[in-house]
Amino acid sequence: MEGTSFLEVNGRRYRWMREPLVVVCVDGCEGAYIDEAVRAGVAPWFARTLTEGSAFVADCVVPSFTNPNNLSIVTGAPPSLHGICGNYFYDRDSGREVMMNDPKYLRAGTILAAFAQAGASVAVVTAKDKLRALLGHGLAGECFSAEKANKVQLALAGMARPSVYSAELSQFVFAAGAKLMQTRRPDLMYLSTTDYVQHKAAPGAPAANAFYAMMDGYLARLESAGAAIALTADHGMNDKHGPDGSPNVIYLQDLLDEWLGAGAARVILPITDPYVVHHGALGSFATVYLPEGADAPGLAARISTRHGIELALERFDACCRFQLPEDRLGELVIVSRRDTVIGTSKSRHDLSGLDAPLRSHGGVSEQKVPLLFNRRIEGLAPGRRLRNFDAFDLALNYAARP
Ligand SMILES: [Zn+2]
Repeated sequence: MEGTSFLEVNGRRYRWMREPLVVVCVDGCEGAYIDEAVRAGVAPWFARTLTEGSAFVADCVVPSFTNPNNLSIVTGAPPSLHGICGNYFYDRDSGREVMMNDPKYLRAGTILAAFAQAGASVAVVTAKDKLRALLGHGLAGECFSAEKANKVQLALAGMARPSVYSAELSQFVFAAGAKLMQTRRPDLMYLSTTDYVQHKAAPGAPAANAFYAMMDGYLARLESAGAAIALTADHGMNDKHGPDGSPNVIYLQDLLDEWLGAGAARVILPITDPYVVHHGALGSFATVYLPEGADAPGLAARISTRHGIELALERFDACCRFQLPEDRLGELVIVSRRDTVIGTSKSRHDLSGLDAPLRSHGGVSEQKVPLLFNRRIEGLAPGRRLRNFDAFDLALNYAARP
């Protein structure tokens, strides 16, 4: 395979790697986190990469959530193709609300699996275990999470098992990645962190700068081991609270219950997952399943006039606009504004775990993400809209040799 060959995955062509490539997805990495860490002087690798490599601002997938974006990055495709449009969805066939983290919901193969199948050595390290099965689907290679690492993997990272709610969960990912690069030198590596720190700390805050300083050290180690690095994010992150620190929430299920009768419509929040302590299952994106005969356009218009709502779209319009799978969304798609989140019913959200004013994501307001390379990217078509899921394309097809 090695030489000038290309691999085709999901209709896109990728050149075989000429040097080890590490693609990093920093969960919740609003660009300002990097800028502030550089300004504070704690991120020399980022500072150098911003000037000597190539730095772009790209659009992530909406809903700007973790799973849809990680799957887009590793498939090089939007959710309309790979099928993963949330952490959670309503399965009409079974009439149940289910997690979407089982590979049976994945409709496309990954770039990682394709390269592994063609003979490349591939490694994947994630923070949370919820992503591991999806990212590792069909992959013959090393694939493990910090959350459920075994003894050998813990030893590889040189760390004890970190708490699922900690900065150390992400540190494990880098520690293991750096050690893998030193010892086994995989051709291709995908590292994916968690946004625990970003949900709590704004750009420039001491905890945020410490987190980026930690990453910076590992990225420098990976680079000095000879790796090309592409770094992007699954989504940005914004404050979703008022000046008094209480969250700005639109309880959409309560509203629809009032308009249509209790339980007639079903609001699904695709941010919902088993790890809700840091965001209370509150994000800026919701989908609504309406009862038969309901006036979808009328309800969309009515919801769109509510304070804090950015978009209320019918399913077809939303799926065209955001490249989403029509069969996994309700009749309406609702996106809230930058400072506002959408909830179901007030009584169903436990906000007692929020020990810091709410920061979250999910909307169009969190769509801008960094796309950085420690190599010069050359020959891109002028005016091309860059997506975070172009990370492999740019790194493999457009990077100049160091
Ligand atoms: Zn995320």
